[in-house]
Amino acid sequence: MYEKLFRYGLFPAYETLRGRATVRHIAEYRDGQWLDETQLAQLQLTKLNALLAYCWEHVPFLQDHWRAAGCRPGTLRHTSELAQYPTLTKTLITANYQDMVARPWRGRTLAKATGGSTGEPFRCEYTMEAYARRTAVMWRGYGWGGASLGTRTAYVWGTGMRGSGWGGLKDRLYHAAFNRRFFDALNMNDANIDARIAAIQRYRPAALVGYVAPVVLLARRMLATGARVPGLRGVLTGAEALHQVERSDIEQAFGCKAFDTYGSREVMLMAAECAHHEGLHVSADHLLLETLGADGAPVAAGESGAVAVTDFHNFGMPLVRYLNGDAATYSTRNCSCGRGLPLLESIDGRVLDLLKTPDGRHIPGEYFVMVMLGWPEVRQWQVVQTAPDSLQFRLVSNQPLTPDQHASLIKSVQPLLGDAMRVEIVSVDSIAPTPSGKRRLTVACANAARIVD
Ligand SMILES: [Zn+2]
Repeated sequence: MYEKLFRYGLFPAYETLRGRATVRHIAEYRDGQWLDETQLAQLQLTKLNALLAYCWEHVPFLQDHWRAAGCRPGTLRHTSELAQYPTLTKTLITANYQDMVARPWRGRTLAKATGGSTGEPFRCEYTMEAYARRTAVMWRGYGWGGASLGTRTAYVWGTGMRGSGWGGLKDRLYHAAFNRRFFDALNMNDANIDARIAAIQRYRPAALVGYVAPVVLLARRMLATGARVPGLRGVLTGAEALHQVERSDIEQAFGCKAFDTYGSREVMLMAAECAHHEGLHVSADHLLLETLGADGAPVAAGESGAVAVTDFHNFGMPLVRYLNGDAATYSTRNCSCGRGLPLLESIDGRVLDLLKTPDGRHIPGEYFVMVMLGWPEVRQWQVVQTAPDSLQFRLVSNQPLTPDQHASLIKSVQPLLGDAMRVEIVSVDSIAPTPSGKRRLTVACANAARIVD
């Protein structure tokens, strides 16, 4: 009842009040998912040409970057011709930040810090329209997993609440309106995990959304104790890949299907699973997701390649062929659900181990991603638990951090990690990816031997 009231009444009214066309975007993407291959290709081409023409006129760095690569303004006949354009990296964007912002939007964009997928802190800008569209795309993808706009949803998440006081009250009211509640994913331990499960049971959610690691932790505890959370339509996971063993534990414990999602702070939801579970549908009516080989050329479906994203609708700081640091593999098949949106078979992104503190609490790797957002001078990082009571931050930066900065970083994490955890900071030249190309951002004790020399 409330779900419908919110979706068709309160939410449209609120968005209109905020001057956002989210409701129109939701309708556009609702229809976009059913376009056939030809219609989708035409739509992509139209959106891409509009974006490129805009960048050629208004984005100084992209003009220079593209001209230097031999590109000239002109209409593409097929999206595959975008392969002539050079890719964009975080380093290039950061070094040319002001000239990456489109002239007409200067001073009017919103900014967002991101940890990125590879542990390179990074900022980017976007317009309100881009945000409204991303929100619409997110609700579509979440809807496939049973967590539509207004669905009573439990979030096992690290952020979303500002604690007590006025900010906290505002957050609680806002989230209550959206019919969702946040359950802290940061402080779970053997002593409080049953209470956390009981709190979720009492909330009686129709869907659950969370980081992979803490959701798996809840699932395994529920399997051990026999606790249930009845009535769920789906469990949606994000922040890292969902593997088969984890998926089956979640499905068994929660009594519903698990839905993998793939997103990033730069562009929000890029792909999500539908109820057919044959892969993750790429939001191809909203963005272009290419997979590139070592030579920079697109790889075939079935082969893994570096992810390059082009967001069709962010005219504030247009990301065109932006390498986000992940690798992914397109499926060679179409989904039997009939949606035209292409499928990703797998995403080889970051790996976030759950770390256990000496006093028995579990800290999801995503916590460190959030902490490192505050350190833009750090180009790359990895947190390795070298012993049960010892944690090492391995940092790559242009200039080594000062002792004061070290102290400040340690001070920011010590309260959560507890006094029994020794925290050490070391500067390193680089952080090697795993042999499969994945980036391990947090490494638990059990896996540390393989990482640290
Ligand atoms: Zn499907």
